Amino acid sequence: MNKSDKFLEPEKMNFQAEVKQLLNLMIHSLYSNKEIFLRELVSNASDACDKLRFESLDVPELLSKDEDFKITVLYDKVDHTITISDNGIGMSRDDVIDNLGTIAKSGTKDFFKNLSGDKKKDAQLIGQFGVGFYSAFIVADLVKVISLKAGLKEDHAICWESDGLGEFTISRGSRKTHGTDIILYLKEDSYELLNGWKLREILRKYSDHVSIPICMYKEEWSEEKKEQVKTTELEVVNQSNALWTRPKSEITDEQYKDFYKLLFHDFNDPLTWTHNKIEGRNEYTQLFYIPKQASFEMWDRDNTHGIKLYVRRIFIMDGSEQLLPRYLRFVRGIIDSSDLDLNVSREILQESRDIRAIKDASVKKILNLIESISNNNNEDYKTFWTEFGEILKEGIGEDFNNQEKIARLLRFSSTHNGSANQDVSLSEYISRMAEGQEIIYYITADSFNSAINSPHLEVFRKKKIEVLLLSDRIDEWMLSHLKEFEGKRLVSIAKDDFDISKISEGEDIKNLEPSEFQKEVIKNIEKTLSDRVKEVRVSSRLVDSPACVVVEKNDLSPHLIRMLKASGQNPPSSKPILEVNSEHEFLKKIATIDSDKKFEEWANLLLDQAILASGGSLNDPSSFVKRLNNIILDK
Ligand code: ADP
Ligand code: MG
Repeated sequence: MNKSDKFLEPEKMNFQAEVKQLLNLMIHSLYSNKEIFLRELVSNASDACDKLRFESLDVPELLSKDEDFKITVLYDKVDHTITISDNGIGMSRDDVIDNLGTIAKSGTKDFFKNLSGDKKKDAQLIGQFGVGFYSAFIVADLVKVISLKAGLKEDHAICWESDGLGEFTISRGSRKTHGTDIILYLKEDSYELLNGWKLREILRKYSDHVSIPICMYKEEWSEEKKEQVKTTELEVVNQSNALWTRPKSEITDEQYKDFYKLLFHDFNDPLTWTHNKIEGRNEYTQLFYIPKQASFEMWDRDNTHGIKLYVRRIFIMDGSEQLLPRYLRFVRGIIDSSDLDLNVSREILQESRDIRAIKDASVKKILNLIESISNNNNEDYKTFWTEFGEILKEGIGEDFNNQEKIARLLRFSSTHNGSANQDVSLSEYISRMAEGQEIIYYITADSFNSAINSPHLEVFRKKKIEVLLLSDRIDEWMLSHLKEFEGKRLVSIAKDDFDISKISEGEDIKNLEPSEFQKEVIKNIEKTLSDRVKEVRVSSRLVDSPACVVVEKNDLSPHLIRMLKASGQNPPSSKPILEVNSEHEFLKKIATIDSDKKFEEWANLLLDQAILASGGSLNDPSSFVKRLNNIILDK
């Protein structure tokens, strides 16, 4: 049986399990916010028109002649139906099965996980996760979708119908031109929606900005019936009010916020925004928002859909890397160009010098906006940094032109306040540098605790030198790209190339010259551990701990090696250097051991604890335990 034969027969199918779960939830928990169904269905209709406009750039025959894009919303008090129609791209039989029978998006699991029980918030989530179509079942107990895909013949029109309980049926539909009708057979308790005034109110509330005209039949007062009756004349009910096209001075903060929440499906107000009309070589309007909270997709580096590109108020596409770099993927907003061609495709965007100029200018605008939060509002900046700091850090390695600007926005934990809050900027660090200090010191570790308790910090404490404590996954990578800030080098204190003895602050550190006997002992330790370390030497950085491990300037740090290994890579392994505190009891004790076997156990234990104290893990923990027990039990 070929496809078109099959096409003619009505066929019953089951919803995917997740869809059933979603439908159930939708019907039971979102009932108090039922009017969102109209927003979702109109938004789909508008998307369908945008899609067809886009595809017809390559294949103009797809469009029917002499017809502008249009969405109509009709209701019928006798049948108790509301019908939302569009002349957009339509759906084929396969499209319908894929789009209205399954949830393809990977975010669905997150969706369920994130339901808060708060119906209002949950309702917003529905839009955010793009499961909007099913909201039809909040108000309807039977939904029919009649659709004809642009480019297909009339006999390919399909009809999908379902009561939302578990199955849907597909059969042949009747529609002469491309587009889709969604017919909702309302539940009895939603009959109040069969009212022209009510529907207009909902449309204005949620869909005013939709750029495609939304039409309803005009209504007039009938003396005879004593009520509003429909005429046969259509009128446009939305203003296609593209907020960004209005002058700033005429827009209230509330309007900016409402627009953001509607367009980007966020239930929080934005943190801040910037709205500018740019004139000159390229004319365009930008409206960028910084959200208050990271959305779930933001951690996905490939998700760069925050920016919507318009050309003269006509929606062209959701933004991609051509409009903003990935490290700004948390930004939401609009770019509306006055001079791009409506025919732009992704490929053209890629090559366009104008787009590149728009992108560069947009990045500057956004970085300035972030900087102004950091200068003017500590609380907001804290929110910003907590939500998006880790993403912004990617910019240090990705956007060399703006590196200095981004570096100014970075915030770290530090030994200055000793708290896990990241609130110390590099400039602040520099302003507190000790007399004679020329370097910005930092340590990277797997966690804040492991950083702040690292033995490497001991001498810095004694010298009262501030050290930045870095424990985000991205930090090590970021700092491999940030060598300097305002002329000061950034140096890891776990590496071996600095000298703080000249810094005059804090207590002096005596660079004790080890005695001949101590030298001998150290040599012996080095010989014993020669398989595991590059070198053993006397440390000038330890105060309380007996030993620590360091790496040479150009070697990978142990922290980075651990990260690379955890991500399945095989980094070149370089042996660390063991530094010992020759004044420590441990070293005095080991010097008195004359049994070779015992000496070996002690030397290995010294190295093991140095690795553990710097947050590392041991290759052979059970030998460590055995050694430790032997020593404790004096065996
Ligand atoms: P989203 O709009 O976020 O993709 P929806 O649940 O609202 O999620 O819609 C699912 C899919 O169904 C859409 O992506 C689209 O492919 C298809 N669809 C829904 N309504 C229409 C329509 N009116 N015309 C064409 N396709 C539609
Ligand atoms: Mg949708």
